[in-house]
Amino acid sequence: MSRSEDLFKAAQTHIPGGVNSPVRAFKGVGGTPVFFKKGEGAYLFDEDDNQYIDYVGSWGPMILGHAHPDVINAVRDVLDNGLGFGAPTAIETVMADKVCEIMPSIEMVRMVSSGTEATMSAIRLARGYTGRDKIVKFEGCYHGHSDSLLVKAGSGALTLGEPNSPGVPASLAEHTITLTFNDIDNVRQAFAEVGDQVACIIVEPVAGNMNCIPPKEGFLEGLREVCDEYGSVLIFDEVMTGFRVALGGAQAYYDIKPDLTTLGKVIGGGLPVGAFGGKREIMEHIAPLGPVYQAGTLSGNPLSMSAGLAMLNALQQTSGIHEQLAAKTELLTQGLESQALLHNTPFTTSAVGGMFGLFFTEQTEVNSYAAATACDTERFAAFFQGMLKEGVYLAPSAYEAGFMSAAISAADIEKTIEAAGRVFATLK
Ligand code: PMP
Repeated sequence: MSRSEDLFKAAQTHIPGGVNSPVRAFKGVGGTPVFFKKGEGAYLFDEDDNQYIDYVGSWGPMILGHAHPDVINAVRDVLDNGLGFGAPTAIETVMADKVCEIMPSIEMVRMVSSGTEATMSAIRLARGYTGRDKIVKFEGCYHGHSDSLLVKAGSGALTLGEPNSPGVPASLAEHTITLTFNDIDNVRQAFAEVGDQVACIIVEPVAGNMNCIPPKEGFLEGLREVCDEYGSVLIFDEVMTGFRVALGGAQAYYDIKPDLTTLGKVIGGGLPVGAFGGKREIMEHIAPLGPVYQAGTLSGNPLSMSAGLAMLNALQQTSGIHEQLAAKTELLTQGLESQALLHNTPFTTSAVGGMFGLFFTEQTEVNSYAAATACDTERFAAFFQGMLKEGVYLAPSAYEAGFMSAAISAADIEKTIEAAGRVFATLK
């Protein structure tokens, strides 16, 4: 028995399913989850001392690779002063200024401790600001696990086949209108009927929780127009895309200005953080300035702020880093497609900046929830397991995006492509 198997068995005694977040349980791909003990640059090391090239990056934040010295040292620098005071600290203002500088649509920002909190709070704010109850989201998009958003959700909810979770009151879920991602006509139709009751549209500008699906040309622009027409708040959930597809996130990449933005992962450098921010006029409705309540004991804690700032500074100061991430992602996805073709495996990919998707399908382009869920998940699972044995760690679900890091070298990508060739050869 491997140490991971032993540890997984032990974990199940007191942790539901042995994991603290469902997709870690490998339900979508079978087998035993790998227990990791260390990350260094491009690599992860498991409890059995196997080494993996990591394309998950803690689900996004490790853009610089694992244990980047700038980030680790930033945490060390503040450690001796104590871990948190539940009171203002100077670094929170430095962080707020930095976020507003990098994403100019954000004029004011509030720190929270997870992406879930960020989206939940942004939605409450949109409701409080507009005085409307209904919200619009898209099928297969995931915005964390708060009640209003766990309706036809992606990510682990989709992997486990539970996009509508028990425990969410029907009377609440009925305020969530779920529409079709990349279908602007569907959005216009819905708004023609109930647009004046809609507080906000929340969208992943690049969907990363039903595999990786870029927006069709005109889709995000259309959402902006609809929100302007009906006085609804446009929320870009950039928990995944922020600082990754471009320094300024998807809103910079596609040049669209949302009213509110939610952030997470990257601004903590790997420590627990989220944030929501946007137009001053809307943000001024948050307590203590305004009546919409939101709070957090650990919000803006010095450890997360230091790690996140070191991360943002490094991203800002490394010239060409996002172009390099995009080029490496392209190298990887093109290489995988060539190998699949060589082995007659129906397969295609998507890529936006440092984010990518792998689809086992005859379709040449996957740009909808229906197309993503029609892909061959069993073949993905076999591919995943094969790659794992080859020392390549991919997201353990057919419905998650992959992430490139600055630490992954061209040689790592070459190894990954060669490994994929061997694995494609074994797929039935
Ligand atoms: N929004 C998006 C787009 C996400 O991808 C995630 C998590 N993967 C969340 C929100 C929720 O973030 P957290 O897991 O930190 O609560």
